[in-house]
This record gives sequence, C-alpha cells and structure tokens, in this order.
Amino acid sequence: MSDQLKYFLEESKMPKTWYNIAADLPKPMLPPLHPGTLKPIGPDDLAPLFPMALIGQEVSQDREIEIPEPVRKIYKQWRPSPLYRARNLEKLLDTPAKIYYKYEGVSPTGSHKPNTAVAQAFYNKEEGTKKITTETGAGQWGSSLAFACQIFGIELDVYMVKVSFEQKPYRKLIMQTYGARCVASPSKETESGKAILAKDPNNTGSLGIAISEAVEMAAKDPNTKYSLGSVLSHVLMHQTIVGNEALIQMEMAGDYPDILVGCTGGGSNFSGLVFPFLGKKFREKKETRVIACEPKSCPSLTKGKYVYDFGDTGRLTPLVKMHTLGSQFIPPATHSGGLRYHGMAPMVSHLKDIGAIEAQAFGQKECFEAGVKFSRAEGIVPAPEATHAVKGAMEAALECKKNGQTKTILFNLCGHGHFDMKAYGDYFDNKLAEDKYDEAGVNKALEELPKIA
Ligand SMILES: *Cc1c(COP(=O)(O)O)cnc(C)c1O
Repeated sequence: MSDQLKYFLEESKMPKTWYNIAADLPKPMLPPLHPGTLKPIGPDDLAPLFPMALIGQEVSQDREIEIPEPVRKIYKQWRPSPLYRARNLEKLLDTPAKIYYKYEGVSPTGSHKPNTAVAQAFYNKEEGTKKITTETGAGQWGSSLAFACQIFGIELDVYMVKVSFEQKPYRKLIMQTYGARCVASPSKETESGKAILAKDPNNTGSLGIAISEAVEMAAKDPNTKYSLGSVLSHVLMHQTIVGNEALIQMEMAGDYPDILVGCTGGGSNFSGLVFPFLGKKFREKKETRVIACEPKSCPSLTKGKYVYDFGDTGRLTPLVKMHTLGSQFIPPATHSGGLRYHGMAPMVSHLKDIGAIEAQAFGQKECFEAGVKFSRAEGIVPAPEATHAVKGAMEAALECKKNGQTKTILFNLCGHGHFDMKAYGDYFDNKLAEDKYDEAGVNKALEELPKIA
C-alpha cells in the first residue's frame, strides 16, 4: 500500500455550493406529469410530500446553490472525502492509464447517501416536519436517513424491501440504533402493501412497492413528509458535493479525467461525481467520456424504454420521462440491492438520450471478481453496487492498454461492503446465479406502461 497517493482536501477548501446541471443542459428536460390530468405538475401537487425548499430546488435553473451552514457543519464530520490514485490497481492491470477514485465510504453509514440525507432532514426540520417516511433497498438509504433524522430530532419510518430485510439484518439494526422504525415491505400497514400481499403473500418486495407504501403514509398525514434517496433532481444535486470536491482534488493531482465512471441504481452517486465535470464539458467543450454502469439483471439504461412512467409500482407518483423497464417489473433479487430499481433518474435518462453519457451493463459475478481484485490491490472492499463502477473503470483501463493510450480515469467508489460480506461469501462459494435478464417479464411490464399521447 506504500505506493498510494491520496489527495486530501483541507476542510477550509470544501466547496460551499452544490452544482445544478439544469443551468447548463444543451436541451431542456420534459416536465413531470400529474398521473390524473397528464398536465405538468406544479409545486402545489408536491407540497403534501416535500418541503417547499426541496420543491424549489427540484425546478431551479440556478447553476450554484448554496449549501446551508448547518449542513456544511455536519458534512465536515467526514468531508472532504479522499481522492486516491489507484497505483496498485494500475500495476495489476499493467495499464498505461491512470486510475483515480473518489471514496465515499468514509461517511458514518459507509456510502454517499448521507450527502443528501442530511440536506433533506435539514430542510424538513426548517419547515416543521415531525415525521418522515421513506423506502430502502439494501438499507443504505434507510440507515443514512436514520442518521440524519436523529441529528435533527425527526421521527422516521423506513419501508425496507423484504428480501433485503431478511438478507441484511445489520442494516436494519443500524436504523434501529439511530432510532428509526424499519418495516419489511410489502407490509400490512398500507393499502398498497395489502393489495400486493393479497395477490402474492410471498412477494419479496421491490423498491417500487416500498416507495408506494412510504408515499401513501406521508400523503395521509399533514405532519409527515416523504423522502427519496435517489432519482429526483434535488437529490442528484445534493450529491454534487462529491464532484465539486473532485474537481479541486484532480487539480491538486495535476490531472483532469478523460473518462468518468459510476454505478447507477437511481443515478445519484453517478450524477454526484460526473455532473460538475459534465457542466465543464457543456460550457468549455471539454472532451470527457462518461460511463454509467448498471447490472445486467436490471438494465434500465441499456435495455429500458425512454418514456413517461410511474416511479412506483402502486402508481401513486407523478409520471416522469425516464429509461424504464416498466413500473410493474420486479427486478430479480441480487446482492446489489441498491441497483434494483425499474427506472433511472430523469436527468440521467435525458443525458443518455442526448448522447452526453453512455451506459454499460455487467453481470454480478464479473463485478464481484473485479471487487475482489480491487480489494486485494487497494485495501478497500467495495459495496456490491460499487463493484459495477470498479468493473467499468477496469474495463476502460484495459481498453487503454489495448490501444496504448495514457488516459486518466476517475470513478466513484460510492461505498464500502462491510455489511455485505455475505454477498462476497456467496461469490467465494460459487453460489451466485448467472445474471438472468428477464426479457419476458420486462416486455410484460412495458405493455402496462401508461399511455401518453
Ligand atoms: C444506494 C446506493 C447505490 C444506488 O443508488 P444511486 O442513486 O444510483 O447512487 C449505489 N451504491 C451504494 C453504495 C448505495 O448505497
């Protein structure tokens, strides 16, 4: 490990703003639609679910948005996060490429998620919210929001996808440690959950179902708001603290990335790293290749349709234009719980549609293989989701080797895998199933897409 070089940023140089890519998009995005009227939704439609400050950020066109002082104070517990040069991995791959990674596993819950959880809890507190409901897949988001709500004294109910609730007891216990209540979804607490269980009592849940449950509970109570850990534009924007720091750190390293890589579930950690660089690409015409890496079993960007769809299975959310496998599609259970979402952030989808980013899909075995190689070279065990970014970066580095190119690669190592060692165990014991892309299931779900003229 002696060959590691890290780029620690002084606390005083931590960026004071988030970056809003809406200000620099070469082509504007299409608005979300009301599921009843099919007209663009307004702030009033969202007010029962979100504080006004966040609704304002969702539609803002300002390029820089100030990070409130109390949020910056909390960020300082683990930010600025380190940027590393992966010299040992470069050696292992025998590549002329330079590989850097930004490490978000240093946060209290071990991933990038607290970057938005703290901001969302702060704005909710400002506007008098007493309780928040949310969903969680693998439990990263639930534990991060539990951490943030506990700081601000807000009560939290988390609907956790049942298969993960059973597979990952430690995440549930972290939520409990922070004082949140965690319920397996589908649950009998909501109409959406009961409807699913009536049809299929053994349903193992999905993010789409858990979102329906959390939204339903928030909509019912004026003192309760709902919070989402990815997909929405304000969430992606809160994550840009990652890329804003990386811009400064790459300068410290005397380099600039030619290739950026991130894994995509709903798109937030990917966006957080790449948006500030994409902004430079748009404004200064910098040549930067940007690659989103997703699982073969849930390939919304590479195999999904770019259409208006619901964000949840119960069809309660507004319709958003995104790459989707269909809101009725239940992705197969894999160890990358954070990547099991039927859709993709509208902003990431839009960038894919205009050709500003590309996407690649990888199987879970090849990702764990990459994760193990990375752990042995660099000492950090990546979260199963993050192994997709590791795999994508390694593929890009090997391509550089083949073509004899000295390119600079930067990827987001969005979390550590310390709570996911069962997944590594299954990989070592050769118990991981080959990825199945359920084409018939996706086609069936696509037939049920809302019909928008
Ligand atoms: C939640 C999560 C993801 C997926 O969400 P994005 O919004 O796509 O970032 C990926 N990796 C980790 C470690 C996560 O916790």
